Amino acid sequence: MTRPDATTIVDPMDAEKHPMSRFLREDRMPHIWCSSCGLGTTLTCFIMAVVETGIDPQKMAVVSGIGCTGRVAGYLNFDSFHTTHGRAIPFATGLALSNPELKVVVYSGDGDIVAIGGNHFIHAARRNMDILCVCVNNFTYGMTGGQVGPTTPLTAKATTAPYGSFEFPFNIPYLAVASGANYVARWTALHMRRLKRSFQEALNKKGFRVIEIISPCPTAFARKNRLGTGLDVLKYYHANSIIQHGADPRDATIDMGGKIIVGKFLDEDRPCYRDYVTENVSRQLGGK
Ligand code: SF4
Repeated sequence: MTRPDATTIVDPMDAEKHPMSRFLREDRMPHIWCSSCGLGTTLTCFIMAVVETGIDPQKMAVVSGIGCTGRVAGYLNFDSFHTTHGRAIPFATGLALSNPELKVVVYSGDGDIVAIGGNHFIHAARRNMDILCVCVNNFTYGMTGGQVGPTTPLTAKATTAPYGSFEFPFNIPYLAVASGANYVARWTALHMRRLKRSFQEALNKKGFRVIEIISPCPTAFARKNRLGTGLDVLKYYHANSIIQHGADPRDATIDMGGKIIVGKFLDEDRPCYRDYVTENVSRQLGGK
């Protein structure tokens, strides 16, 4: 399969095609995402960021787990891996350690990253592994029918919680910062320009970088909670998002029907795991 090798979205020889078609596996189309789902918007921002940073897509690898977001690895025309549920980060860790030239990106959903893969998430952050971890958070397990997940807001309804969820949800930015990540940001699918900029920043950094994207799931979460269409959810984001760069992530909680704190919460340049290994092992071997 031909991989994109240029840094422009538009292929002038193929003007009748979708402008991003060269970055997508057309043989996998049509995609499975529901009308007005936020996932396509997040992927558009990601592709635009890759193009504008000038990173060679042939030196990138994208890894996803299972779920609606997990389809990203199958749709992107990059070297990619659609792994088992919750295991995207371990696969990505192997890639990042074995080939330091690769930009390794995990692109998965909240259920995948902080439920079944939650342990991998905190340990990859603790080790400051050289991975960009994109977590699309729609507050539910969309693909399997809208069950309660670890980010479902308190009192929100789900197919497995008809009276509301009474579990306290994870605050992903706080979890990432507390576990040792190098870069942590949160946006919604409405904040396309800012999300693209965060992707660009994170792609140009090393270490464990986390971008959470709050995204509409009109089919499962919004319907169960009577939030309206995908457009209604975007209007809600517009009215209720508060941009607070540098905010204490402990304050970035998300309450059902409440405000959503977005922004860049952390941007550090601590050496990543591989830097420590390279420096210390070569010093010890050199000292022998
Ligand atoms: Fe998107 Fe929800 Fe449909 Fe999955 S179920 S594709 S998250 S709208």
